[in-house]
Amino acid sequence: MNLTLIIGPMKSGKSLEMISLFNHLQYTNIPFQVYQPIKDVRNESMWSRTGLSISCKKISSLNDILNEEARVVGIDEVHMFDEKDVGAIKELLNRDVKVFVSGLDMDYKGEMFGIVKKLMELGPKEVKFKRSVCEICKEPNAVYTSIFKDGKIIIDGVPSVVPEDGTYTYVPVCRKCFHNIRSN
Ligand SMILES: [Zn+2]
Repeated sequence: MNLTLIIGPMKSGKSLEMISLFNHLQYTNIPFQVYQPIKDVRNESMWSRTGLSISCKKISSLNDILNEEARVVGIDEVHMFDEKDVGAIKELLNRDVKVFVSGLDMDYKGEMFGIVKKLMELGPKEVKFKRSVCEICKEPNAVYTSIFKDGKIIIDGVPSVVPEDGTYTYVPVCRKCFHNIRSN
């Protein structure tokens, strides 16, 4: 069982952590590959806000990874994959593949994504809970990711993952601000 989860809200350094984990593998003979959901239309590579990047393969299902030979696998934006696909990660672990997964742990309602819950149930070797800066009070303890549209928080009625075409923005917030803005 060699599963590591890197989870937390938007802008919490998850990509930077993944990139630094995979960067040194580029200089080894170890076959590795980082994957992103095809739904993530933003970029072809995994980018950190620091400017570092690593190239990724876009896939529509985690099952696509099972046809490949990588011994170390990275999965970015895991919350965008179907929770039914978690069996593919189990299979990789059974094959002694090292798996690093990153993504949001909770949706805009503060509820854990189904696939993240299932990954936690696999008993990962390590879970790294990342934290971000709350964009409302500026304290470095944001754990949630709210969705805003036209400067207003969305409380309900949108999918947990919204299209990144600029209509909606993801905003990291702390527990206190999360409850304040939702009750106003
Ligand atoms: Zn706050």
